[in-house]
Amino acid sequence: MKKNFIGGEWLESDHAIDNINPSDTSDLIGTYALASIAQTQQAIDAAHTAFPSWSRSPIQQRSEMLDNIGNEILARKQQLGELLSREEGKTLPEGIGEATRAAHIFKFFGAQVLRQKGDFFDSVRPGIDVTVTRTGVGVAGLILPWNFPIAIPAWKIAPALAYGNCVVFKPSELVPATAHAMAEIIVNAGIPAGVFNLVMGHGESVGATIVNSPKVQAVSFTGSIKTGRSVAASAVARMAKIQLEMGGKNPLVVLDDADLPTAVDCAVQGAFFSTGQRCTASSRLIVTDGIHDRFVKAMVERMSSLVTDHALKAGTDIGPVIDQRQLDQDLKYLQVGLGEGANLAYGGEQVARDAPGFYLTPALFTETDNTMRINQEEIFGPIASVIRVKDYDEALATANDTEFGLSSGVVTTSLKYASDFKRNIQAGISFVNLPTSGVDYHVPFGGTKSSSYGAREQGQYAEEFYTTVKTDYTRA
Ligand code: NAD
Repeated sequence: MKKNFIGGEWLESDHAIDNINPSDTSDLIGTYALASIAQTQQAIDAAHTAFPSWSRSPIQQRSEMLDNIGNEILARKQQLGELLSREEGKTLPEGIGEATRAAHIFKFFGAQVLRQKGDFFDSVRPGIDVTVTRTGVGVAGLILPWNFPIAIPAWKIAPALAYGNCVVFKPSELVPATAHAMAEIIVNAGIPAGVFNLVMGHGESVGATIVNSPKVQAVSFTGSIKTGRSVAASAVARMAKIQLEMGGKNPLVVLDDADLPTAVDCAVQGAFFSTGQRCTASSRLIVTDGIHDRFVKAMVERMSSLVTDHALKAGTDIGPVIDQRQLDQDLKYLQVGLGEGANLAYGGEQVARDAPGFYLTPALFTETDNTMRINQEEIFGPIASVIRVKDYDEALATANDTEFGLSSGVVTTSLKYASDFKRNIQAGISFVNLPTSGVDYHVPFGGTKSSSYGAREQGQYAEEFYTTVKTDYTRA
């Protein structure tokens, strides 16, 4: 049994969970300890005790530690990428790419530790100086989804540690292996006892204990809107600092003047890669009349060449869906779409491969309108809809007609439309002539409307959430 890391020790539990490979359900990756509520409290207590010392630790020490963690992840990116793809189901190049990105995030925050700055003011009263600095918040409870098992943990853990916070890290119960492997790297880098804790387990027990503990000053959550709402309600009720990153129903607008191959590349990558299991996936393809038929034809042609198979097999474009529950959800939405009168132009078939896995071919609905459930609710699978519109104005209005506001994109050769889209799209991220997924690690990430709540993640903007502003007055 792989253990949790609590208060500087690897601890067993009475209960464990089997981690199954979604590409081959006969492949047991390992058995992982489920932390109890008492163990979760123990981890929170350890983090609380370690905070005064860690928050005052030399910045050189923190910087080197984060840089070393990044270097070790980089050195093991192949192995970590394989493990990640084996348990999550994204293809091996995607798995290695994600591990590489996690390494870069740790190295970025290793450098950021050294760039902490403050402000100096003359007081309005004579003879008094005022300094404004930032300090760590305290214990950061980090609650993670399954779809980016190393990158998202990295973009929460690295800034939390960099700015002097102690961490209680709860990965998704579906991807404990990558979390455990990353925790081993963090532990082996010499992190002091209590500063970093791994508590694998279920949301209702481990997650809820973190969210409700008065010793956890900051809760950073990434996951579904449904869970996010309940996490926020509990955390805000006790006035904890809270940050939520949630779902999307991201539009990719394709205009008449678009370069067709670029449009198809953006749509296929954005909608179907990583099996469409990305909060930034382009699930709504909003296409103007003049290019609509050519775009649909080219999409169907390209989609028929995509290989859906085992995540670790060379040549696979699209790996399996994460598990039976998500597959059932995808299949349900395919029926919902057909029931709403959409035309299934391609895919959406559950298929058998050499190994028993959750294989679903990428699906494209056409003849849809934006009011349909398939265009308003997050499906989180390899399923996209084409919505036909008459012109740019209708495309923009349709793109904004959603409760979500995470990512967005436009494919156009017009500077006028590109500029207008960047200004007026209601989303935290926009892309011109690029897929809606695939973001850099050194710039902020997050959305608007129901997609996000609280301070932005990543880049220097991460400082906002993981620090508290402090104002000091001194009379000489
Ligand atoms: P989820 O909401 O089911 O679970 C997320 C985490 O919350 C898990 O660790 C889970 O155990 C925990 N949890 C569940 N109930 C809890 C409770 N009562 N208290 C505390 N924690 C609890 O989400 P998921 O299925 O793991 O992930 C998919 C979702 O994540 C999608 O909606 C996707 O869009 C979203 N997501 C968003 C981003 C982003 O940055 N915006 C990135 C990746 C994924």
